[in-house]
Amino acid sequence: MIKLHDKYFKPFISAKEIDKAMTRMATEIANDIGDEIPVFIGILNGSFMVVSDFVKKYPKPCEVTFIKLASYEGVKSTEDIQRLIGLTQDLTGRTVVVLEDIIDTGNTLAEVHRIFKNEQVKSLKIATLFYKPEAYKKDYKLHYIGIEIPNKFIVGYGLDYDGLGRNIPEVYQIKETQYMTNLVLFGPPGAGKGTQA
Ligand code: 5GP
Ligand code: MG
Ligand code: MG
Repeated sequence: MIKLHDKYFKPFISAKEIDKAMTRMATEIANDIGDEIPVFIGILNGSFMVVSDFVKKYPKPCEVTFIKLASYEGVKSTEDIQRLIGLTQDLTGRTVVVLEDIIDTGNTLAEVHRIFKNEQVKSLKIATLFYKPEAYKKDYKLHYIGIEIPNKFIVGYGLDYDGLGRNIPEVYQIKETQYMTNLVLFGPPGAGKGTQA
């Protein structure tokens, strides 16, 4: 068990399981893309570790870039997504794969689609290491999913709780009883604060 700020987290997904899911995704994506040279786009901050490990497993030439989005949770609408760093290169005619750490409500993904609406890309695919099907409320297709998880807050492997936990090489899940208590008393993690994707 670990403690970050005021909350306790228990081991949930091992580094080995993550590695297996990442290898499977990299192989699947490489097979689908064929001879095209894809542009992988990570969504900062959360996806930095996913992208770093993913591209090391990608067996063919590729390009890598990032955009940076921040969502606000709790008292502020989670649909209020800020663009901190946008696209910095022309993607006309390119095969683009967005690499996400986690897809939860899908609000961040909606912003990604808004960003690409006016780009003349050849294809846009979405890949995410973690996916919370119970929380997802959009219709956008998710082309590649690493691991489906229940609708509980996790940290590690790039994912933070109020800035901490991103450097942990495996994934921890919030301890339920304490989470429920705090949820009633104080609202969900990040309530009232801006949190970076
Ligand atoms: P969305 O709800 O827009 O799909 O997810 C927004 C962002 O919230 C994600 O990019 C991620 O940074 C963060 N997020 C969603 N679920 C979790 C979670 O369980 N743990 C952590 N640490 N962040 C999460
Ligand atoms: Mg965060
Ligand atoms: Mg993210």
